[in-house]
Amino acid sequence: MALRSFIRKPENHRPDAPVVEFRGVTIHYGDGKPALEDVSFALTRGERVAIVGPNGAGKSTLLKAIAGILTPAAGSVDVYGAVSGGHICIGYVPQRSHVDWSFPVTVADVVLMGRVARIGLLHQAGRDDHRLVAESLDQVGMRALAGRQIGELSGGQQQRVFIARALAQEAELLLMDEPLTGLDTPSQEAIFNILDLLRARGLTVLVSTHDLQLAADRFDRLMLLRRQIIGFGRAAAVLTPANLRQAYGSHMTVIPATEGELALSDTCCAGDDEEEHHHD
Ligand code: ADP
Repeated sequence: MALRSFIRKPENHRPDAPVVEFRGVTIHYGDGKPALEDVSFALTRGERVAIVGPNGAGKSTLLKAIAGILTPAAGSVDVYGAVSGGHICIGYVPQRSHVDWSFPVTVADVVLMGRVARIGLLHQAGRDDHRLVAESLDQVGMRALAGRQIGELSGGQQQRVFIARALAQEAELLLMDEPLTGLDTPSQEAIFNILDLLRARGLTVLVSTHDLQLAADRFDRLMLLRRQIIGFGRAAAVLTPANLRQAYGSHMTVIPATEGELALSDTCCAGDDEEEHHHD
């Protein structure tokens, strides 16, 4: 099911339209409160945006709506001017804990899957496809490990393989769900170096993260989410004490620091679901 929607060709991909446009989007899982409620925003080409907010704020839900995995109950999600749903221009990197890493595929296989989206399931990958796979692995510094099983890689290496898959797919929009969680600083740096390369190629990158500091330091714009958008823009405008209180309530301690800066302590998510799969 997922694969079929993944290989659907874009119908009205308009390069001049916003990369992503939500208009009044509401998404429910069951009968209770919606996971997202009346969410509207647009992304422009080439920007790097972080979605922040407490656990359960709807960050994954928002990414899945863009990827076409979830359909809104109300409102519309457009990608390059066309209704979302398996756009070939989207590379989606799910949370690591949601991937079956024991699946017996090699690094090169995973990246070649990005080509399947382009060439179709029934066609053999050709020399150009294999060349693109090799180039994509080169770009993320993973070519030497092309023959490894993906389960043998570290968390940071796995993220890089998924980025390579998006490159092989010639994605224009990269969605990453908590890619930085559980990575040490050098591994995070490696990811940011690659994201810088992608920026130079005009890719738009949307990343969910718990890390407000990284979000503020390393992204063009921040979306502060808690079922609804509390703020969307530059970090200084979004991470205000009032907005943070609205997003995190009593879980967030906002400590005024020197020179008008804020020291933030997110006590909400300490020790929760960030279990890592280590494969050392
Ligand atoms: P975040 O990524 O910010 O932690 P999610 O998008 O995962 O938030 O979740 C938003 C809300 O939707 C939460 O209340 C969560 O419990 C609920 N939710 C997420 N996935 C499911 C699901 N598969 N079934 C039912 N409820 C879900």
